[in-house]
Amino acid sequence: MERLQKYLAQAGIASRRKAEELILAGRVKVNGITITQLGSKIDPERDIVTFDQKPVKTTNKYEYYLLHKPLQVVTTMHDPQGRTKVTDLLKGIKTRVYPVGRLDYHTEGLLLLTNDGELAYRLMHPKYKVAKTYLVTVKGILDKNSLLRLQKGVLLEDGLTMPAKVTILETGEDYSRLEMTIREGRNRQVRRMCEAVGHPVVSLKRVKFGPLSLGQLKPGQYRKLEEGEIRELK
Ligand code: URA
Repeated sequence: MERLQKYLAQAGIASRRKAEELILAGRVKVNGITITQLGSKIDPERDIVTFDQKPVKTTNKYEYYLLHKPLQVVTTMHDPQGRTKVTDLLKGIKTRVYPVGRLDYHTEGLLLLTNDGELAYRLMHPKYKVAKTYLVTVKGILDKNSLLRLQKGVLLEDGLTMPAKVTILETGEDYSRLEMTIREGRNRQVRRMCEAVGHPVVSLKRVKFGPLSLGQLKPGQYRKLEEGEIRELK
């Protein structure tokens, strides 16, 4: 839901203040009903807004959503095994949006979805080295040597990885919790890097993607990106 004056401003009708005046002057209708109250909220996906009898269209041709992907959900658009797909979780969104990159079935966390193909391409391209931060629980106690190996880059079957930024958050009896940032997006990269240094991943959660943070979203919840966030991404 969005405030009517904000919606009008975003659609380029007028500044927010001026849009308030237009509302007060009775020139704005929502679903055919004149609205003169300033607090009114609308659903930009469903409500039909007119200004001086003409439909108002938002100039945003693209949509951007941040989803907290739960565990045991696939990021692919089609799953032959019929498992739950991330797009099944975006109830009430009519636009077809696509995940930007992948998270494994057993990985949870921040996933960006959009229909802005150009931005998606750029965010995924290795050239742009977008930082992705994960909270990782691995088996065993990570010693200095393994930490250094991750920080320097690890030799995997598809070549040497770039250095990862790694901080040990906690060590338990037989596990370690790490914060790990990588700037590549190879298949199962974090799992393979940790495994290669002798510490298989027990759980994996992405908490940051470029300038975006997962924040307080619970698994399965999603929200639209704010204008400022979209600008930062571009
Ligand atoms: N690295 C992995 O190993 N898995 C993911 O889902 C994301 C990054």
